[in-house]
Amino acid sequence: MKKYIMAMDQGTTSCRAILFDHQGNICSMAQKEFPQYYPHPGWVEHDPMEIWSSQLSVSTEAMSKIRVEPEDIAAIGITDQRETTVIWDRETGAPVYPAIVWQCRRTADMIKELKETGFDKVLWERTGLVPDAYFSATKIRWILDHVKGTRERAERGELLFGTVDTWLIWNLTKGQVHVTDPTNASRTMLFDIHKRQWDDEILDFFKIPRQMLPQVASSSEIYGYTDVFGPPIPVSGAAGDQQAALFGQCCVQPGDVKNTYGTGCFLLMHTGDQPVRSRDGLLTTICVDEKGGPAYALEGSVFVAGAAIQWLRDELGLIAKASDSEASCRAVEDTGGAYLVPAFTGMGAPYWNQDARGVLVGLTRGVNKDHLVRATVESLAYQVYDLIRTMEKEAQIRLRGLKVDGGASANDFLMQFQADLLDTDVIRPRCIETTALGAAYLAGLAVGYWKDIEEIRGNWAVERRFGSQMGEPERSRLLQGWERAVRTAVHWAADPA
Ligand code: ADP
Repeated sequence: MKKYIMAMDQGTTSCRAILFDHQGNICSMAQKEFPQYYPHPGWVEHDPMEIWSSQLSVSTEAMSKIRVEPEDIAAIGITDQRETTVIWDRETGAPVYPAIVWQCRRTADMIKELKETGFDKVLWERTGLVPDAYFSATKIRWILDHVKGTRERAERGELLFGTVDTWLIWNLTKGQVHVTDPTNASRTMLFDIHKRQWDDEILDFFKIPRQMLPQVASSSEIYGYTDVFGPPIPVSGAAGDQQAALFGQCCVQPGDVKNTYGTGCFLLMHTGDQPVRSRDGLLTTICVDEKGGPAYALEGSVFVAGAAIQWLRDELGLIAKASDSEASCRAVEDTGGAYLVPAFTGMGAPYWNQDARGVLVGLTRGVNKDHLVRATVESLAYQVYDLIRTMEKEAQIRLRGLKVDGGASANDFLMQFQADLLDTDVIRPRCIETTALGAAYLAGLAVGYWKDIEEIRGNWAVERRFGSQMGEPERSRLLQGWERAVRTAVHWAADPA
C-alpha cells in the first residue's frame, strides 16, 4: 500500500501541504505565505499564478523534507479559501485578472441594487445564501463588466471560471480537468443546492455564460491525475475549507457540530439530507455525508473572535501574546461584573445589526486589566453560544457536544467556559489540522486508501474533553448579563443623537 495522502490546504493568507499517513498522523508539513494586494480601500486580490506556484512549492517541500517520492503518495486532496474567484484563458491558462478574494467588498453596491429588484429572495431560496458581495457571482460579473474583451471571450467559450479548488485541479492536470465539488459550488451563489446544479435563471440574471462554469463532481472521486511531481498521482478529493474541517472532525451525522476559533469563528452544523432554511440569517450550505457525497449544513460565523484577542495585544497592550490571555483569565475569579461585546464591525447572527459597535459595560472601581482580558475571552464563548442556540432552534436539533479546532481552541480556560455556558461537552481532537485532514480523508476514500468512515473514525482521537462544571443559576445569571450588554451595543447604534 502507498504510504501517504497529500492535502493541499490553500488558505487566504498561506498555502500549506501536509502528508498524512493511514492513522491520520501528520508526517510532513510545509507552509508559505503569499502576497495580498489591496489596490483600493475595501478591495482584496491575489495573484492566481502566485497561488499556484506557492502551492506547488510547499507540496514539493513537504515531500522532500521526509524524502517522499510521488510513488509513495496514494492521492491528493484539496481544500481552499472559499468563494475567491479566478477567470482564465482556456488555451493559455493565463488569468485575465487577479483573483478577487472573498473578503473583497467592491461589488457591495451590486448587492444593494439586486435587493431592490427582489431577486435576493430567489437567490436565498435556491442557493441557501443571504446575498452578499462575499460570494463569487458578483465577482465574476464584475470582471466580465470591467475587463475589456472578457465578456465576448467568455461567450465564445474561451474563458473558464473557477474557485481556487478548480484553479488548482486545472493546473495540476495541465488543463485537462475543469471541475469543482458541491461544497465549493454552493458558495458561488450560482448553484441550486436543492437540485444540485448550476441555475440557468441565476446565470441569466448575472449575465454569466454557462460555458465558463466547471463541471460539478463529487467531493470524493478521481477527477484526474497529476504528473507535476513525476509519475501520476490521482487528484481525488476537494471541499471548501469549512466543510473539509467538518469532515475532518468526523461530523457526518445530523446534529454534529464543529466550531473553528480563528480570527473569526466558523460554526457548522450537519443537518443530514435536509436543507434547513434559516429565518435568522444563517446560511444553508452543502457539506459532505459519510461517503463523501453531498449533504446539508447550517453555517454561521462570529466576525470578531481571535481578532478581539489580537486587539487586547496590539491596540491595548494588555497582553504580550495571545496565549497569555489564559493566565490573565485565571488570575481573577470572574470579570468583576464587566462584559465586553466586541461588535467592532457590527453584529451577525442572530442580531444582524451592522451599525452596532463594541461596548464595555459593568465597570466598577475594582475592575483591573485581568478582568478586561477575561471579559474579552469570555465574549468569544458568548457569541458562539448565541449562534449555537439559534442553530438548534432552526434545525430542531439539540447539540450533543461541540467539536473544536482553530488557534484559540488551544485556550483551556475558554474551552471550559464554553462547555459551562452550553452545558454540554466541548471536545478538542488530537489533530487540530482538521481542514487539511478532511481533504486528505476525502481523497483517500476515493482511492480506497481508507475503506470507509468507520476506518476514519478509528483515527479520530480526543485530546481533551471539557465537561460543564457550572450550575444553572450561575449560567443564567451570566447569560442575562451578556444579553443586557448586547442590548447596550445595539442601543448605542440606534441612538439618533
Ligand atoms: P486564522 O486561521 O483565522 O488566521 P488561527 O486558527 O491561526 O486563525 O487562530 C489565530 C487566532 O487565535 C488569533 O486571532 C489569535 O489571537 C487567537 N489565539 C491564538 N492562541 C490563542 C489563545 N491561547 N487564547 C486565545 N486566543 C488565541
